[in-house]
Amino acid sequence: MNKPIKKIILILLIVLILPIIFFSVREMTSLSRDEEIIEEIYRSQLQSILFSINQYSDDIVRSWTSHLTSIIEIEASKEKLKKELAGLFSESQSVQSLYVSDSLFQSQLYAEFNAGSITLADNNRSLKELVQNNFDQLRRLYSYNKSGFRKIEAVNSSSTNRLFLIFILSGGKFSVLSIDKQLFIQKSISSKIQSVARDQFIVSIYDSLNNKQIYQTSQIDSEQRIIKKNLWLIPGYQLGIQLKGETIAGLVKKRTSSNLIIFLVFAGLMLITAFYAFRNIKREVELAQIKSDFVSNVSHELRTPLALISMFAETLEMRRVKTEEKKNEYYKIISQEAGRLSSIVNKILSFSQIEAGKRNYHFKEVELNRVIQSVADSYKFHLSNKGFEFILEQPDEKLMINADEEAVSEAVINLIDNAVKYSVEVKLVLLRLTRRNDNVIVEVEDKGIGIPKEEQQKIFEKFYRASKGLVHDTKGTGLGLSLVKHIMDSHKGSIEVDSEQGRGSTFRLLFPLK
Ligand code: ADP
Repeated sequence: MNKPIKKIILILLIVLILPIIFFSVREMTSLSRDEEIIEEIYRSQLQSILFSINQYSDDIVRSWTSHLTSIIEIEASKEKLKKELAGLFSESQSVQSLYVSDSLFQSQLYAEFNAGSITLADNNRSLKELVQNNFDQLRRLYSYNKSGFRKIEAVNSSSTNRLFLIFILSGGKFSVLSIDKQLFIQKSISSKIQSVARDQFIVSIYDSLNNKQIYQTSQIDSEQRIIKKNLWLIPGYQLGIQLKGETIAGLVKKRTSSNLIIFLVFAGLMLITAFYAFRNIKREVELAQIKSDFVSNVSHELRTPLALISMFAETLEMRRVKTEEKKNEYYKIISQEAGRLSSIVNKILSFSQIEAGKRNYHFKEVELNRVIQSVADSYKFHLSNKGFEFILEQPDEKLMINADEEAVSEAVINLIDNAVKYSVEVKLVLLRLTRRNDNVIVEVEDKGIGIPKEEQQKIFEKFYRASKGLVHDTKGTGLGLSLVKHIMDSHKGSIEVDSEQGRGSTFRLLFPLK
């Protein structure tokens, strides 16, 4: 690779590729960090929703207890007590019975709520036993109460449907509420759950001891509950919450993948830009190189015939040449070199006409056999002078094409010139005219140095000269084949090359048959 190209690669690497890589790595890591933060925020939001449900159910029971305290404190008549209790518990429907007693079980009260009616009794054996079995808990609650902390606790029981809540009332009394768990959830806290869940979340209550779904705001696979919290009031019950429709992980994944796609498209575009920038700059650098080679090649091509012409003309002018034979030889050299000069200048003029878009072709029906014959006739001597064997193969059939006769001759002459230029040991030029299907083919074959495979497509580009093999020994402009290609394109034809290094080349001009 040459130096300027290496430099371009280095610059592109520093200006484009490295920032892309750096940016990619940074984006990737910050993406996952962002997702973690979002997930964290979601989780704490969900936690606080569950907290608010717990707080709400706690508040309900707490309001019952303070209400109850004020009812029990007034030594009301049985009727008045019934009325007050009905007022307190009728709405919730979940409180099944109420037990109030002092710590020595001397003054007891039992109320049972049944379909809106209340039955009062002086005691209740089963609730008394329940408390007695958990007397340590009661003692603890009394001590909490003494320090001013009114705690409500569930009493351990074997019942799966009932919840027994125990708490201290004022005046040294305590109370046990027997609550239907199902009804408590349905009547007291479900409306709160519905209001926090709205359309965004699914909130569920799950009995972890019995592996049972107790309640949920809408039907969904309970396995997907992402955040779980104990329901403070009911031991063994858990609150669960998840996003409706999609899990957080799903949302995060979706966001990550859409971000990733945008990012990859962006990086891809940057890389394509880098690639095109590299290609264009590389082409420009190569063109600059080719142009400078061209100038040096052309100067050399012009200098040699000019030097020869001036040298022989001077010798003749000074009358130093004595014999007519020698003089004739010098005249011949001068005229040959002048021909060479004009051929180079013509090539350059032709090329500049093409570049300026001013090259015009005059098409008419042409018998190609005749054109080839006339090129062969005028080149025969020139070739044999240079020691070449020249073979012309023509078919009997007249092959007509639509062409600019002069341009076709120019193309064939260019090929013959090259065949001569690039032949070293075996000096043979074969000019062949054939027909293949709807094409007329002009072939120029030589046994010269050949063209390496990787160069064969490039030799038709303007200024291009093969850089491998023996070609550097021969000077040229790199314009000949690009002129031929232009001529062939204008004739709606094409040019092909078959060549093997060291064995020779065959150039083929394909014209459409008229
Ligand atoms: P030039 O001959 O002035 O360099 P051309 O455009 O005619 O420019 O040819 C381009 C290149 O193709 C040449 O430099 C040479 O390397 C290669 N080439 C063309 N014709 C032949 C041939 N007959 N044999 C070997 N190489 C050839």
